[in-house]
Amino acid sequence: MRSRWALRVGRAFDGARFRPGGATVVVEGERVVGVEEASFALPGDVPVTDVAGTLLPGLVDCHVHLVGSGSFPGTPGSLEWAGGAAADAVDAVVVASLREQVAAGVTTVRDLGDVAYRALSHRGRHAEGLPRVVAAGPPVTTPQGHCWFLGGAVDVHDPGALDRAVAERVERGVDLVKVMASGGFLTPGSDQLGAQFEAAHLRRLVDRAHAAGLRVVAHSHSVVGAEVALAAGVDGIEHFTCLAPGGAHAPEALLDRVAAADVTVCPTLGNDPSRFPPVSAMPPHILQMLERLGISDRDEHFARVAAGSLRLREHGIRVVSGLDAGAMPAKPHGHLWRSVAELVRGGWPVDEALATATSVAAADCGVEAGRLAAGRLADLLVVDGDVAADVTALSRPSAVWVGGVAVMQ
Ligand SMILES: [Zn+2]
Repeated sequence: MRSRWALRVGRAFDGARFRPGGATVVVEGERVVGVEEASFALPGDVPVTDVAGTLLPGLVDCHVHLVGSGSFPGTPGSLEWAGGAAADAVDAVVVASLREQVAAGVTTVRDLGDVAYRALSHRGRHAEGLPRVVAAGPPVTTPQGHCWFLGGAVDVHDPGALDRAVAERVERGVDLVKVMASGGFLTPGSDQLGAQFEAAHLRRLVDRAHAAGLRVVAHSHSVVGAEVALAAGVDGIEHFTCLAPGGAHAPEALLDRVAAADVTVCPTLGNDPSRFPPVSAMPPHILQMLERLGISDRDEHFARVAAGSLRLREHGIRVVSGLDAGAMPAKPHGHLWRSVAELVRGGWPVDEALATATSVAAADCGVEAGRLAAGRLADLLVVDGDVAADVTALSRPSAVWVGGVAVMQ
């Protein structure tokens, strides 16, 4: 029999709620085999470690780009760099990104856009103390469309192109398919307010993926892109910024339909404001877009976006947290705590905000983690302080385990 060990802590969040009696978590091999109150008397042969702070399931970041490094200060171009870099240079960035994530207590990442399937090739390395990886490979996009430089562009006028795009990903063994339903800020010339695909084309992609047992998530910054994605039957919408001429606002009817369709939304909230380039260094196409959208004050804009996240909750939409780590310097790997903190700033209860980065996120990624519960993977995180009282305590990890193996302690 493999040996058992236990962690005992006065404060614990179990993936859905805080446990008033704290927790004693018993681990055997890679799994949790029991969760009791902190006062529980364990058999004498089970070694117990008492920890201070708050124990949680390891965090799950539902939207990362492992091929993008946060260490390109002042430039938004880390994904463009990856598109043109040699495989070994890209692999070095992927491993560095994974190390930054796990050191921050993120024990599962969902990669929603790599190049040449490099993120995918780093799946299954959790025995080495790296996070679990769920990956989509290169995102499907249009020629010169959003993130075309990652190599996933398809010409929809070629009748077999979408089928081949799905077949290639199935052959590579992706965990899900990512498609760019609208343009994006990082790709000059793409239309953040428009739709990149017609619904019929996107529907074909979704049907082919579903037939192969793969879920599809769609990037959309625009209302029309979200409408097309919804009509096509996607399983998740990323960003869901809901831009339209005049600004960002999700129409009530759209929110109702997203909830009714059981579509997951990952609003990719959170930025490290100290890593934004000065306005003088912003690319002209981004400045023009901000002006077109009437966004003049960055802080005020993000406060409004955080407040808007409460409408997702009010409409009963399933929300998962993902930072979009690696996409730009203001979104470094390991900063998922910022996504959770933004939900709380927007008015979400702390336990529900934490669930978007633990139990709900793990379920959406198809990973048996995200909960302190018998049978779940022993992906665990201890942070300094009381997360219930101060959600930013999430940014202070003191111990991390992946599959019962201590990564940091
Ligand atoms: Zn992204």
